[in-house]
Amino acid sequence: MKFSEIIYSKAENELKNRRERAEKLAAMRRKEFIASNPELIDIENEMKNAALEVIRSVGSDGKNVDISVIAKRNLQAQEAKRELIKAAGYPEDYLDIPYSCKNCNDSGIHNGRLCQCHLALLQQLSIGELSCSPMLAGSTFDSFDIKYYSEVKDPQYGFSPRDYMRGCYEMLKAYAENFTPRSNSFFFSGGTGLGKTHLALAVFNKVTQSGYSVYYNTASSIIKQLEKERFGRSAESLEEEIEKNDLVIIDDLGAEFSTPFAQATVNELINNAMLSGKPMIIISNLSVDELENRYGQRVVSRLNSFEVIEFMGEDIRQLKK
Ligand SMILES: [Zn+2]
Repeated sequence: MKFSEIIYSKAENELKNRRERAEKLAAMRRKEFIASNPELIDIENEMKNAALEVIRSVGSDGKNVDISVIAKRNLQAQEAKRELIKAAGYPEDYLDIPYSCKNCNDSGIHNGRLCQCHLALLQQLSIGELSCSPMLAGSTFDSFDIKYYSEVKDPQYGFSPRDYMRGCYEMLKAYAENFTPRSNSFFFSGGTGLGKTHLALAVFNKVTQSGYSVYYNTASSIIKQLEKERFGRSAESLEEEIEKNDLVIIDDLGAEFSTPFAQATVNELINNAMLSGKPMIIISNLSVDELENRYGQRVVSRLNSFEVIEFMGEDIRQLKK
C-alpha cells in the first residue's frame, strides 16, 4: 500500500466532492420543502431573531433582557421546525446537510487528527492503486523468469546465479503457500534489477489470495508519511495501519534521505514488528555492512533473526532491453 502525494490529493478531492454533494442535496431539499411548507421561513426567522437578541443583550448592559426568555423562544422555534418536518412526513434531520461522516462533516479532520473516514479513504485508494498497478499484477511466481539469471558458475561461490535463484524461488513460493502470521521474516539484499521486488510482490499476491492482509510500501514513502502525520499530530495512524496487517513488506530500505527521524523510524518499525512477532520482508540495495553504517548496530542485530537472501545475477531490466 502506498500513500503517495497522489493518494493524498485524490482523498482530499473525494472529501471535497462529498461535501459539495451533501451541500447541494441539502439546498435542493430545502428549496423543495419550502415550496410546500413556506412557514419554515417564519420559524427560522424567529430562531435567527432570538439568537440576534442574545448577541445584542451581551453588547448592552443586559439589565432589561431576560436571556432565559429568549432561549425559550429559540427552543420553541426549534421544536416547531422539527414538528413541521415530521408533519410533512420526513425524518427530523431531513433538512440538515447530509454529510457522509458525522464526526468531521467530511472535512477529513476530527479533533485535530486525520478522521477515521479519511484514513479509510486513503487505504481504499491505495489498495485500488496497488491492485490496479501493472507492477503488482505482473509480479507473480508464474511470471518470474529464471532464464534471466546466468547459468555460468560463479567462481567465488561454486554455483550459478540461476541455480541459486531457483532455490530462493522455490523457498519463497513454499513460504507464501504456507504463510501464517507466525511465519519468519526475510531480508532481501542485492543490487537493482535482480528481481527482489518481483519476488516480494509474488509473495504479496499469494499471501493475499490465502486471505491474509499484506502491507507493502517503500521505506521512503513510509517515512515521508510518518513525518507528515507527525506534523499533523496524528503519528499513530500509519503505525496502527501497518499493525493491522499479517505481513509487512518494506521496499527500498536505504534509498530514503538519511535523517535522524528516518533512522529512528526504521528502528521503530523493525522493533515493533519483532516485538509483535509479525513477519516482515525488508528489501534493500544495501549490504548488511552498509545498513549498519547507516542505521547502526541495533537495526542490523535485529535483522540477524531474518533469513537473508542475497540476490545474484545481472540487472534484469538491462537484459530485457
Ligand atoms: Zn470523518
